[in-house]
Amino acid sequence: MNPCRCGGGPGDGACRRGPSCARQYQSRISGPFFDRIDLFYDTPPVTAMDLALPAPTEGTAEAARRVAAARNIQTERYQDHHPDEGRRAINADASARRLVDIASPDEAASALLSDAAAKLALSARAYHRVLKVARTIADLDGAGGVRRVHVAEALSYRRRVADEQGALEPKLAH
Ligand SMILES: [Zn+2]
Repeated sequence: MNPCRCGGGPGDGACRRGPSCARQYQSRISGPFFDRIDLFYDTPPVTAMDLALPAPTEGTAEAARRVAAARNIQTERYQDHHPDEGRRAINADASARRLVDIASPDEAASALLSDAAAKLALSARAYHRVLKVARTIADLDGAGGVRRVHVAEALSYRRRVADEQGALEPKLAH
């Protein structure tokens, strides 16, 4: 979605009404709905200079191979943990209870997650979603366990909203 009804966002010149414009526009979507979206990513407008830059080093085919490898890791791990179920499941399919089984965050990762849950007032749903995304980031990384850096990246994808000054703050759950 666009950040505000003007089509631009705070600071990019398209919106002259300030951060309240984005807040008003985004408030049309309910908090619980936003809470179910795991990945928020700001895409700044493309400039003429961007078009002149060299292509990214990782192409679509390489990225697809990384994703396929991560999915294989996930289905194998799921089968190791739940051999009786006889189905191929990925992280996205894991219930909250299953997720705790398979995520295996180390001590620093758990500490960051608890800290963030308290400071950002994460709902139980959001907490498990952050852990799920962290598990997937670790899989893409080829890491056995979830480390602090994976939780930090997962947290960075939660929704943030602009405050009065236009600074991005983590969205508090209601
Ligand atoms: Zn606007």
